[in-house]
Amino acid sequence: MSQPVTRQRLLDACNALLQPARFKDYGPNGLQVEGSDTIRHIVSGVTASRALIEAAIDAKADAILVHHGLFWRGQDGTVTGWMKQRLQLLLAHNINLLAYHLPLDAHPELGNNAQLGKRLGLQVQGVFGDQDLGLWGSRVDGQTFADVKALATSISQALQRAPVVVQAPAREIRTVAWCTGGAQSYFEAAIAAGVDAFITGEISEPQAHLARETGVAFLACGHHATERYGAPAVAAHVAAQLGITHTFIEIDNPA
Ligand SMILES: [Zn+2]
Repeated sequence: MSQPVTRQRLLDACNALLQPARFKDYGPNGLQVEGSDTIRHIVSGVTASRALIEAAIDAKADAILVHHGLFWRGQDGTVTGWMKQRLQLLLAHNINLLAYHLPLDAHPELGNNAQLGKRLGLQVQGVFGDQDLGLWGSRVDGQTFADVKALATSISQALQRAPVVVQAPAREIRTVAWCTGGAQSYFEAAIAAGVDAFITGEISEPQAHLARETGVAFLACGHHATERYGAPAVAAHVAAQLGITHTFIEIDNPA
């Protein structure tokens, strides 16, 4: 059985690693809901959904670390309905909820973007877009993708999910930009960076036209599917550092 650590030690370790003060974000990073003072077992997941909280309770976790926490700018601030249910479960079971949004995307080794690049066999050559969150590069093996279809096939294999592809005229893909989750608005910055294709989680209507008109391919690979890797990488790193137990719990999401 692992030795417990204080909540403050866990928070200090996460903050030292992810440096949340460096980011302008859409919600509070760090401790969102206070639970027990000591922690033996941390569960990681993508989103603080009721299903994840229930799974963490079953796993007897003292803390949950997620990419998508409970609180976002623009919410009405009431604790009713689904919000009441999630909070009630956390508070009744004395579980700490830690959430890191953009800091968890951006960590150069453990973040969602770095981890996605690794899964896709891409090496980073530069950054682009707002707060330098986007990454771009080329294949780690020095090869290129013959066309966007070859890139889409490689992504399907890596993520076990077929992307939505807006195909530019068929051409070789040498450089790829990527930003996980709902980063479709980064497409124009990716185009400006001069890449052949852009990978993110979601697509909105305007990007299909931009892809056709600029010749830069757009691949929407799933918000959840592209953001599955950062939280467990960070939680595993911190748990190993502190000598506590970590479990990643995947709650499937088609979006
Ligand atoms: Zn996201």
